[in-house]
Amino acid sequence: MNTEVTFESLNLSSGVLKAIEEMGFESPSSIQSAAIPLIMKGEDVIAQAQTGTGKTAAFGIPVAEIVDPTNRNVQAIIITPTRELCIQVAGEISKLCRHKRIRELPIYGGQSYDMQFKALRQGVHVVVGTPGRVIDHIKRGTLKLNDVKIAILDEADEMLDMGFIDDIEQILKETSTDRQTMLFSATMPMAIKTLAKKYMKSPQIVAITPQQVTVNLIEQYYYEVKEKYRFDSLCRILETEHAESAMVFCRTKRNVDELVEGMQSMGYSVEGLHGDMTQSHRTNVMNKFKSGVLDFLVATDVAARGLDIESVTHVINYNIPEDPESYVHRIGRTGRAGREGTAITLITAREMRMLRIIEQFTRSKIKRKDVPTLKDIHEQLTTKTVEKLVNTITEGNFSEYKPIILNLADEYDLVDIAASAFKYIADLEHGKLSVMEEHEQEKEPETVRLFINIGRKDKVMPADIVRSIADVSGLPGSIVGVIDILDSYSFVEVQRDHADAVMKSMKTIKIKGRKINMEKANRNQNQGQRRPRY
Ligand code: ADP
Ligand code: MG
Repeated sequence: MNTEVTFESLNLSSGVLKAIEEMGFESPSSIQSAAIPLIMKGEDVIAQAQTGTGKTAAFGIPVAEIVDPTNRNVQAIIITPTRELCIQVAGEISKLCRHKRIRELPIYGGQSYDMQFKALRQGVHVVVGTPGRVIDHIKRGTLKLNDVKIAILDEADEMLDMGFIDDIEQILKETSTDRQTMLFSATMPMAIKTLAKKYMKSPQIVAITPQQVTVNLIEQYYYEVKEKYRFDSLCRILETEHAESAMVFCRTKRNVDELVEGMQSMGYSVEGLHGDMTQSHRTNVMNKFKSGVLDFLVATDVAARGLDIESVTHVINYNIPEDPESYVHRIGRTGRAGREGTAITLITAREMRMLRIIEQFTRSKIKRKDVPTLKDIHEQLTTKTVEKLVNTITEGNFSEYKPIILNLADEYDLVDIAASAFKYIADLEHGKLSVMEEHEQEKEPETVRLFINIGRKDKVMPADIVRSIADVSGLPGSIVGVIDILDSYSFVEVQRDHADAVMKSMKTIKIKGRKINMEKANRNQNQGQRRPRY
């Protein structure tokens, strides 16, 4: 935050200053000290600043000052792309206006009309709305915007994108032409700036974007995963990254539902958020996540823009975003207002190109990390358990259990008792581990290589060996793989499950008149002697 400018120096009224103080803001952020004076002077402003830098108050404070509480008409309208952001922005406006007799109202789809009708009839000064519902009210004649002095598009690039542009145009037409117009976002493509001028009067451009578009307090990593292990890799990453509170982004609503189901079955505290859910369900999930009842929120890009949840330590792109802007907004849900955060992206080899595009766009390096192996996770969990145990010993609060142990010690060895106790804790803590899949490269090979004491000088052919194995063990010849015949001995690959039976039964026979000895080949013998598959 900026230390040179103070809120007092921005010519604010005492009521607003008091509200700002109560919100715990000590000094204005860069975007606030740059944009607030311009807006108060009556300028139109296009403001671009990184995620989590206080853009809401940058337009919210001037709104609180500009609106006249004695005028009962709507004087300010703020448009947001999602319902959750609408609720959040209305909340921030309400706090800023606490000591002025200004009434604000969030109006968004999925909420009952009755409540909105009633509030609008009673008189509202500031409307915060999603485009569809605002237009609904305009058409019904329940919302009049002709006295609007200031119109704000939060997440402006999204609002002026194809999906919303017609709605925005329709809403702006309802306002008077001498209104002020503001655009706020962390990303502002050139095309949008050009388009925006159509709705603005010689806008001032305020861009607080250091070299990087993303916040540098956010550590960015990617993990290269195999498609079929995407879910399992996520679970492993969650175990080793100590993600306490994370937003996990998926491409589609179906992906969200599937991932939530999978994570719940692994015992994670998680729910999903997407556009096919009822609004009351959406609100309920958001509240649970914000209050910490849920550790994880899995969402589509509906949650990518603007949401400000203090506790989020990690953002995880379960599916890589479809455009670089979306990456910036998604990861900006962490590392807010000067806090640290971690952003993790899961990608397959095919998606590497998109990763490079994102790196170029954000001018930042996304570091590679390897998906932890089951062994890594196991070791980490063991270390954690040891730490906890040592802590417990140091705290010394266990005298009530001593008689139990002394009792057991009459019958069992003390180390055995301690080791069993450790196993018991470890099993509890490692619960998730037991369900995790072994990835292919980690699996033991399915065949073992056996040494056999006959070779070329015994005039033995691969077919002789296969036939003998099949005859004596009663197993099909197909359990035998590669056979390497060397001068005085050979190597035979056999399916792991049958190796012991084969070794045992071969001891009872002779091939080409020789007594047979078969044993597991050691590693050194294994190498450098490969021949074409038999
Ligand atoms: P943006 O819209 O830029 O992503 P927000 O407006 O959501 O950011 O603000 C991010 C967080 O920073 C919010 O929790 C907000 O209350 C807080 N905040 C805003 N301005 C200040 C300030 N001047 N000092 C401290 N915290 C602030
Ligand atoms: Mg914002």
